[in-house]
Amino acid sequence: MKQVMPKESRCSVPMNDRWSSKKSAELYGINDWGAGYFRLSEQGEVEVTVDIDDDSVSVSLMDIVLGMQARGLHMPAVLRIRNLLDQRIKILNESFTRAITQTGYRNHYRGVFPIKVNQQCHVIEEIAEYGRHYHHGFEAGSKAELIIALSQVRDKDSLIVCNGYKDKEFIDLGLYARQMGYACFFVLESVNELPLILERSDIVGADPLLGVRIRTSVMVDGHWRHDSGDRSIFGLCTDTLLTVIDSLREASKLHCLQLLHCHLGSQIPNIRNVRSGVLDACRFYAGLVREGAPMGYLDLGGGLAVDYEGARTNSTHSMNYQLDEYCVNIVESICETLDPMYIDHPVIITESGRATVAYSSVLLFNILDVRDSHPGPLLSSLPPGGNENLAGLKWALDNVTQDNFQECYNDALFYRDALREDFQHGQASLRERGLGENWFLAVLQNIAALLPQVNRVPPELESLPTLLSDIYYGNFSLFQSLPDVWAIDQIFPIMPIHRLTEKPTRSAVLADLTCDCDGKIDKFTGPKGLTRSLPLHPLHPGEDYYLGAFLVGAYQETLGDLHNLFGDTNVINVAIKGDGSFDFVREFHGDRVADVLRYVEHEPRQMQERFRQVAESAVRQGKINVTQRQAILRAFSNSLNAYTYFKRS
Ligand SMILES: *Cc1c(COP(=O)(O)O)cnc(C)c1O
Repeated sequence: MKQVMPKESRCSVPMNDRWSSKKSAELYGINDWGAGYFRLSEQGEVEVTVDIDDDSVSVSLMDIVLGMQARGLHMPAVLRIRNLLDQRIKILNESFTRAITQTGYRNHYRGVFPIKVNQQCHVIEEIAEYGRHYHHGFEAGSKAELIIALSQVRDKDSLIVCNGYKDKEFIDLGLYARQMGYACFFVLESVNELPLILERSDIVGADPLLGVRIRTSVMVDGHWRHDSGDRSIFGLCTDTLLTVIDSLREASKLHCLQLLHCHLGSQIPNIRNVRSGVLDACRFYAGLVREGAPMGYLDLGGGLAVDYEGARTNSTHSMNYQLDEYCVNIVESICETLDPMYIDHPVIITESGRATVAYSSVLLFNILDVRDSHPGPLLSSLPPGGNENLAGLKWALDNVTQDNFQECYNDALFYRDALREDFQHGQASLRERGLGENWFLAVLQNIAALLPQVNRVPPELESLPTLLSDIYYGNFSLFQSLPDVWAIDQIFPIMPIHRLTEKPTRSAVLADLTCDCDGKIDKFTGPKGLTRSLPLHPLHPGEDYYLGAFLVGAYQETLGDLHNLFGDTNVINVAIKGDGSFDFVREFHGDRVADVLRYVEHEPRQMQERFRQVAESAVRQGKINVTQRQAILRAFSNSLNAYTYFKRS
């Protein structure tokens, strides 16, 4: 179906000649973090650009939003762009192949997707289907994830790597997979897993493919700095590794040991860490070969970063390398270590999760309301006989300059507090307090306007711009849709997806629908690094204003929770076609209220019955009549069937 609508009809505001899409692009840094997948159209809308054959094709996100509206799919919604998922698998595999060819490396690359990063069925299905061409397999960290992998992988050249603690059922499943010809590896997390694996393999009658997870001493930068190196809770220490080798040799199963696994951590922003990790892993690999294990597979885990900031630095939310550089560094480091020892080049495995799926999902939401931090219309003179502190505030308001702003700030604070105290003691009226607070806000605003010209901003005034930001209330739950923002201070690029030919004149922080003070976003990527507020447009009455949170395909969906019982959002999967049209290949309606109630063991039928009894007794007492009773029960039942998020009526 053709989705494209005429763009002019949506531009309610004429192009502003002092502002342009190009300026918006710079302001929001979209050309830096968008990696060529997201950019701005001249009409001021965010477009997603994908490769189809040798062409690149762009579609405006607003076109997709309109298509969703037409299908009754309300905000908030996760948009998954199938082409981007495919493209990431392709680029990952092709970059490794290129590095391998260039270096003369004598083996190949096999990627595996760690299921925990996005377990959603259609994401996994697409990776299995599209990845088949590259023999892209899966990494499973639990029984459930192994079941997912086994139900999806059809290609026996794709690998399945099992990490995590494995019980009898997990082990049996993996052994049966071996029997059927799957390249299914058990990576030993602990020496204690070994006896059970050997016992079950005797009973089932299949030799396992074994790997060992080492604990490298390499520390990595970024969020997981303190959990890396010797502090890592995963992997075998060297002494235990030797115990594993000895036990295998004793059981005449050393030939099963074919893989070395090394996962340094996620979102490694610094290429130097990657390189050190590979060098360390290769030394272990060589050691295992020397011990007589056949080996053949080197699994370097995840860690390939995503540049959420677009800054190209080694800061936590960024990365100081490109994909090609990552691949070349790995391939070269392996050659460098193993060649002098005449050890055959292993199959290179990586378990890139974040870098594979982050780009393909966008969280779309609308803004419901704004709390304006600008003071209302100001009274220009003191009311006669007004509270004496008002005069002080008025003076500060009228006299603030670049030279005395600190003094004015101190005064304003003093008089505002004194006024509040008078109010508490009944010596100032509600109207006087209102006027004083308005003036106080205006003083702060005047000071904030002066700060950009000031050489040294006093620490107590640094947070003034954030304090004075408007609060934009978004129709989403941070805890459900962007849990890492809350849990680990993750930065995601967030920006309006339309009206970008207009200058955004407001400075805002975002609040979600949960009535939780943690449900806010007040750190954003800006042109000069991280900022505490986001430039946004004023709302137009009667018109929706849409924002997108980008690069949210990794980790967010499953980590999300039911805080305030906001459930799963609507999800729409689109596939963009060569002619610029797109198909809604799948749509999933998010949780209804009844669904989330059941998750916490409330039974909607019983709730309805109990509520019916309340209504019935109200009829008996003559508080409502039967017609009203019907309307009330209908409202109750409609709410049970409704989307958990805010729906415009
Ligand atoms: C989480 C995890 C990954 C994925 O890491 P990314 O940084 O998302 O690529 C890979 N391997 C293991 C063992 C993991 O625990």
